[in-house]
Amino acid sequence: MPEHLELLVVPYLANQLYFDSEEEWANGDYEHGAEGILQFYQELFEMEAIEEVINLLSFLNTQKMNRNDNCFCGKKEKLKRCHLQTYNIVKDLSKRRIEYDILALKWLSKKLLKLKSI
Ligand SMILES: [Zn+2]
Repeated sequence: MPEHLELLVVPYLANQLYFDSEEEWANGDYEHGAEGILQFYQELFEMEAIEEVINLLSFLNTQKMNRNDNCFCGKKEKLKRCHLQTYNIVKDLSKRRIEYDILALKWLSKKLLKLKSI
């Protein structure tokens, strides 16, 4: 399957299946596809820049943190007193799902860059 189709169609169909069984959308009111994925993580991380979202998501998906480690947000605060809840939400998602989301975000980032340069 071409990459752009896989990135847009697969989550749409997954959400559709979820809707059919649960009678609500898996992602609430988020837009379909990559824009919705970006919006989800922007709200979760409380950050706007897509590159920052991609970097943080890649970091959290590959590093195991301890409750007493300094928080990933850069404040001199232990994780357990800072963004532990955010950390746990990300850890509850599957690694494969996050890898997929990172791909979608990178694709969207490229698309946004192209739009800017026109
Ligand atoms: Zn923090």
